[in-house]
Amino acid sequence: MNPVYIIGAGPGDPELITVKGQRLLKNADIIIYAGSLVNPALLNGLPAEIYNSAGLNLDEIITIISQNHAQGRRIVRLHTGDPAIYGAIKEQMCRLDELGIPYEIIPGVSSAAATAAALKAEMTLPEVSQTVIITRRAGRTPVPEKEDLRALATHEATMLIFLSVGMIDEVTAELITGGYPPTTPAAVVEKASWPEERIIRGSLNNIAALVQEAGIQKTAMIAVGQAFSDLEPQAASKLYDRHFSHAERQGQDS
Ligand code: SAH
Repeated sequence: MNPVYIIGAGPGDPELITVKGQRLLKNADIIIYAGSLVNPALLNGLPAEIYNSAGLNLDEIITIISQNHAQGRRIVRLHTGDPAIYGAIKEQMCRLDELGIPYEIIPGVSSAAATAAALKAEMTLPEVSQTVIITRRAGRTPVPEKEDLRALATHEATMLIFLSVGMIDEVTAELITGGYPPTTPAAVVEKASWPEERIIRGSLNNIAALVQEAGIQKTAMIAVGQAFSDLEPQAASKLYDRHFSHAERQGQDS
């Protein structure tokens, strides 16, 4: 029996799907894609029967999968970015487990990675931050109290905030209350890797106003932390330091 493939479509640019994901898409008989964010260009010219999951509930999605699986069809469930991040895949996998339908996950390029690329940033800069926090502000989906933005802000780590640009005023206020200096670099990337990508750069104390002025309301990432500074960092990496030895290279004395 063919497993159901749960595939990461990448952040938007149709060339940012994995080679494996693209091969499985081309060979699929049935594709159920997350219509709100997956770039439809990925589906152009494919022979499969295609369903947009935006208008379907979980029961309907599972019915399409189980009926087609029973007939031996090759099924792809296509999610935006990487399926493991805010992909709502766990509930689908639980239902497939109950039904005894096998599945595999093919990872994708998350919009987290596409955002860093758009900003030309290294999110883990030596002596600046070695930690990346992926989070969101509570909206209709609650966030556990211990993960409140104010609590996470105490680390002053690199932070990527999904699903929250519509609440950017509250986000920045909470981050400042929590401990980031108001001058901390902050950026918003709308539709990273799409042709219409937009980048707004500022700091925690002005990014909300800049984003509202630009009219950005959804499909955007909020990136916060010194790692997004334009300034040259104080410390370079040990990895390529000419005095530093490691398994592959002997450091120089002077
Ligand atoms: N699984 C996806 C995230 C789905 S949640 C991933 O790994 O990227 C949807 C949220 O992701 C959006 O609200 C937005 O915050 C972010 N997002 C998705 N695509 C994006 C893009 N191209 N550019 C910026 N943010 C994006």
